[in-house]
Amino acid sequence: MNLEELDKQFVLQTYARDYTNFVRGENATLFSEDGRDFIDFASGIGVSSVGHGNRRLSDAVCEQVRNIIHISNLQVIEPQAKLAQKICELSGYDGAIFFANSGAEANEGAIKVARKYGEVNFDKKRYKVITLEHSFHGRTISTLKATGQKSFHTPSFSPYPDGFLYVKSIEDIYSSIDDETVAVLIELVQGEGGVEPFSIGEVQNLAKFLRENGILLIVDEVQTGVFRTGEMLASNIYQIEPDIITLAKGLGGGVPIGAILTKHRDILKAGEHGSTFGGNYLSTRAGLEVLSILNGLYESGELKETISYFEERLKGIRERFSNLFSQDVGVGLMRGLRAEEADIPSKVVKSSMDSGLIVLKAGRNTVRFLPPLTISKSEIDKGFERFEKAISSI
Ligand SMILES: *Cc1c(COP(=O)(O)O)cnc(C)c1O
Repeated sequence: MNLEELDKQFVLQTYARDYTNFVRGENATLFSEDGRDFIDFASGIGVSSVGHGNRRLSDAVCEQVRNIIHISNLQVIEPQAKLAQKICELSGYDGAIFFANSGAEANEGAIKVARKYGEVNFDKKRYKVITLEHSFHGRTISTLKATGQKSFHTPSFSPYPDGFLYVKSIEDIYSSIDDETVAVLIELVQGEGGVEPFSIGEVQNLAKFLRENGILLIVDEVQTGVFRTGEMLASNIYQIEPDIITLAKGLGGGVPIGAILTKHRDILKAGEHGSTFGGNYLSTRAGLEVLSILNGLYESGELKETISYFEERLKGIRERFSNLFSQDVGVGLMRGLRAEEADIPSKVVKSSMDSGLIVLKAGRNTVRFLPPLTISKSEIDKGFERFEKAISSI
């Protein structure tokens, strides 16, 4: 059996997969078994934040693996405590952290914190969480229900848990709050929904209103967090301090990890939440190294330079190909090109792949770019050369 046959026979076919077999990676470049190279403008959907084969990350992880990979959370775990401290330090967030294994799991935990908060802080328990229609919060049963996109609520997986309410825009949140509302859960830049940043003023007003009314603001930074937007948290750009923030994707550089940051440190008591793997030596040691690498790029100004360079190239493409793209959107290294027609992004993803470039689709009509934050100028140049070639034939 060749690899494709093996996959099709033994792996559940829940993805519409491409069958290029990558065998090696070097920063934002991937090499396939048949000797071709690909520029990676996707970083495994915003995960490989420090690129592939990163020497510092692999050294740190290897050293940890040779030592201890895992004990249980019944013992204190040094890199876990240090990573929690580092996340708070770099973001300026005044709170404490629970470690999970993924974005969905972090959001599940955030919902648990909110529900318990709704029980202990109000005479009549509050439990409803308001989310936005184009949001994405994960694939577990409750985070699917929290996801506002109707297409995710397929009856196949019903019944779903109660207590989620969707609104079209931030403006519509205010009138949807009632005496059972405990929290509002939003992304600051919607990722899967189509690379859609919200206005800073609108978000700040919402944060202020919720605080004044004792309703929690949960910000899903699973995609926007860990320097993806140019700052440690998108919340730093928006200058807000949400009650709860969730992280995952870029935090471990590819080692699975999720995190719940909250100011409400006393809501969950011992035994009320837990995880077998969450926060183990391996993932938190990886997280520490990733943060050290990325904060270095941030402090030296290199990250900012990479972002402007990428943005400039992207704007150039949008101008020259206004027949295909109406708008360039996004912040930091979370970028998109809004297509004129809904069938364009899938064609672009496919023809980019044929030209040696990995890009993503988001929402209904957006081509999405999430390159490693360590991408070099020459990789950006090469990637956009290939992109131009790919879209010229569309
Ligand atoms: C990817 C993503 C998730 C889900 O993360 P998983 O690790 O796949 O569970 C949740 N929220 C946002 C905003 C995401 O981008």
